[in-house]
Amino acid sequence: MVQEQLAAKGITDPRVLAVMGEVPRHLFVDDAMQGRSYGDYPLPIAAGQTISQPFIVAYMTQALELQGHEKVLEIGTGSGYQAAILSRLCRKVYTVERVNTLLAGARKLFDTLHCFNIVAKMDDGTLGWPEFAPYDAIIVTAGGPEVPHPLIDQLADPGRLIIPVGDQDIQNLHLVTKEKGEIRIDRLASVRFVELIGEHGWGR
Ligand code: SAH
Repeated sequence: MVQEQLAAKGITDPRVLAVMGEVPRHLFVDDAMQGRSYGDYPLPIAAGQTISQPFIVAYMTQALELQGHEKVLEIGTGSGYQAAILSRLCRKVYTVERVNTLLAGARKLFDTLHCFNIVAKMDDGTLGWPEFAPYDAIIVTAGGPEVPHPLIDQLADPGRLIIPVGDQDIQNLHLVTKEKGEIRIDRLASVRFVELIGEHGWGR
């Protein structure tokens, strides 16, 4: 997976490649899907949601340019796979999921894999997690109609935020950078994510 789907397609950050090779992705999918868990495609998880394809996980992670000291906020815990990857590349991960059953499954895996620097809660992640703000990096793994302004507010300066923005069928990955009080938005690539549902996403 690391050589054929990530390195060959342009993932260059050695720390990201190493971690993608370490975290056992098969534990994050249903038993019936385990044989396909290292393939180059997204897979269904519980509650009608999906775990992103490995390349997209690596691509979004690489865009955050993590060095190891950061506090990172993830919106959309899902299976917990993305959070487990992040947890090995930064100091602390805060992750928010709106579906309780998914959160429960992810928490078990964080324990199994000794990801003790991840804190997870059930909530509407479009509101961020103000209590622990600001965050050096924020990653949203569901697609919304706009960048939720609470997330921009809770981004540190300097800080990097990555989020799919568009309609329900197709979105564009937006990289929002905050530096010296200025906000800049770069559009990186077309993607297809499940809906970001909440106050600053698609209506409940
Ligand atoms: N990062 C996940 C991908 C999960 S799919 C992984 O590695 O498996 C996106 C997830 O976002 C879904 O689980 C969905 O329930 C969740 N989600 C959608 N809107 C949300 C919101 N407003 N707050 C928190 N989670 C949300």
